[in-house]
Amino acid sequence: MIDFHCHIDLYPDPGSVLIRLAREKVYVLAVTTTPMAWNGTRQLVGDTPRVRVALGLHPQVVAERHAEIDLLCSLVPEAHYVGEIGLDGSEAYTESFGVQQRVLAKALTACAVHGGRIMSLHSRRAAREVLDAIEEHPGCGTPVLHWFSGSLKELKRAIEIGCWFSVGPAMLKSERGSRLAAAMPRERLLTETDGPFTKSRAGPLMPWNVKEAERELARLWGCSENAVNRTLNANLGRLVALSEAASKSVH
Ligand code: MN
Repeated sequence: MIDFHCHIDLYPDPGSVLIRLAREKVYVLAVTTTPMAWNGTRQLVGDTPRVRVALGLHPQVVAERHAEIDLLCSLVPEAHYVGEIGLDGSEAYTESFGVQQRVLAKALTACAVHGGRIMSLHSRRAAREVLDAIEEHPGCGTPVLHWFSGSLKELKRAIEIGCWFSVGPAMLKSERGSRLAAAMPRERLLTETDGPFTKSRAGPLMPWNVKEAERELARLWGCSENAVNRTLNANLGRLVALSEAASKSVH
């Protein structure tokens, strides 16, 4: 199982989540929302197998935390994974949209200097602008668009410029989301939960709940859950190899 976008540090009891992750052999990308959380989250995760930490500055906190972009850029040399970064064009964040764009440009510039980063990108109501930013920073790495919710036309453009995608249970349960997921290349797809921000009746989605996304993908692709699982694992292997080959300075 793979949860390529989840906020481990924001669960009420991350320690117990990590213990279960190790037991269930879930591959996890623990994204952060501020570079201030980078060291703490790395310490928290420790040597938990299959869990990697990403260095982020969430567009929804950029209004208050834009000054932290310098810290993010200074930490990029030690981060193989960068996220959650991106843009949010929904109404609550329109005021900071210009600042968000400047912050994203700086983050992508730093990624391009070091090369080969794997980036988990937020693009809610800003797919076009996020794709523009990626194109303006060649060599920034491999973008993985998390919970993509743009139009089919924007999806087509994202595919053309080499984006990967991570999709979760909430997205796949909506008709629009599953239509988009069905149009994504199977060889560039990963699963995610975006927990604990996403919830089910039982509480926040946990990384092992990606099983529900695998089930939905099996239905969409008309194959078994085992086949979905094999495809996703192969994808993750390819993504990591691709980025290692392009990376210039990862410790
Ligand atoms: Mn998120």
